[in-house]
Amino acid sequence: MFAEEQDLATLLEIQQLDLNIMKAKKARVELPQRIEVMRLRKKREEIREKLEQVQGLQKRAEAELTIVEDEDRSLSERQERAQEIIDASGSDYRKVESHSKEMAGAARRREALAQKILEITEQVDKIKGIAGQLEGAIAASEAEEAKLRASFEGEDKALADEVRELSSKRAELAASLPPEILKLYEKTAEKVGGVAVGRMVDDTCGVCRTLIDGGRLIELKASAPLGTCPACKRLLVIE
Ligand SMILES: [Zn+2]
Repeated sequence: MFAEEQDLATLLEIQQLDLNIMKAKKARVELPQRIEVMRLRKKREEIREKLEQVQGLQKRAEAELTIVEDEDRSLSERQERAQEIIDASGSDYRKVESHSKEMAGAARRREALAQKILEITEQVDKIKGIAGQLEGAIAASEAEEAKLRASFEGEDKALADEVRELSSKRAELAASLPPEILKLYEKTAEKVGGVAVGRMVDDTCGVCRTLIDGGRLIELKASAPLGTCPACKRLLVIE
């Protein structure tokens, strides 16, 4: 493909900028603190899921406690009422006896309920303790992430600025290049990834190091000053 000498120089300069942009972007993604932040978040998600399960258990236990306490309260009221009746019964022994029996039954049931209330309360306390630990772990992880973020914000911003600067310089150069050359370069870069244009030195591709000879060399030289390496398909500046 025909190209002015200046265009070839510009093309190589654009490629260098593209490589530097790629490098800075990669460095941003691979900042060790960023990777650690991702790890913390993933772990925190797991803890949150566990916390939800534990909170579900707590809700169920508390609902059960409410039912038992309600029954206990109603029995206590029944006991009071029976006592009032007994107090007012005077010498009506039949009445006294039947309500005394009722009171004794209620007392027995309340004893069983008291045991149950104790068990459920202990269970709720235990669940609350676990939930508290999980909430503490989430808070600690959030604090750690904040610390990490603060420590890499400066580094991250410097890399982002670098990408912006290189990109604007690249846009300037790209605007000065004939569109068909730019298009060919970008298509090639997309296909091969990384280095898209090299120089041919001593009949050898400067990128993949393949020695080009015979018919392929004649063909390539015919496309000078800008051809395509028959081996790696990158663009080659042929001098
Ligand atoms: Zn090659």
